[in-house]
Amino acid sequence: MSHDPNCLFCKIVAGQIPSRKVYEDEHILAFHDIHPWAPVHILLIPKQHLSSLAEATDAHAEVLGRMTVLAPKLMRELGVTNGFRTVINTGADGGQEVYHLHMHVMGGPRPWAKG
Ligand code: 5GP
Ligand code: ZN
Repeated sequence: MSHDPNCLFCKIVAGQIPSRKVYEDEHILAFHDIHPWAPVHILLIPKQHLSSLAEATDAHAEVLGRMTVLAPKLMRELGVTNGFRTVINTGADGGQEVYHLHMHVMGGPRPWAKG
């Protein structure tokens, strides 16, 4: 399904819910997470609805590859110079809350670091 009318992130893609956009092209949208876990915390999503990484097929390989390559570029543009973390939560036990695949990209000093 390319657009799910009940999906939060499809609504963001459609402009029905506002977001702080960082990047947009034909296939990908990047925007700031509303509850950041890090000084810079953005979400990269395919514009076409895909509920989770568990549902990905070969047809999604290109957009997932492009998202991965885009992450360091966007972090550089946002002033992150000392590394970043990428996370894709998948399914209930993976901690996924929004069922439209998204890559968390978090940079800046490490609030998640132990000790
Ligand atoms: P998940 O747990 O599914 O990997 O992460 C979902 C992420 O989406 C969370 O980090 C949450 O803060 C973010 N989020 C949830 N609703 C919204 C929203 O309406 N706008 C934005 N920008 N982020 C959201
Ligand atoms: Zn969606």
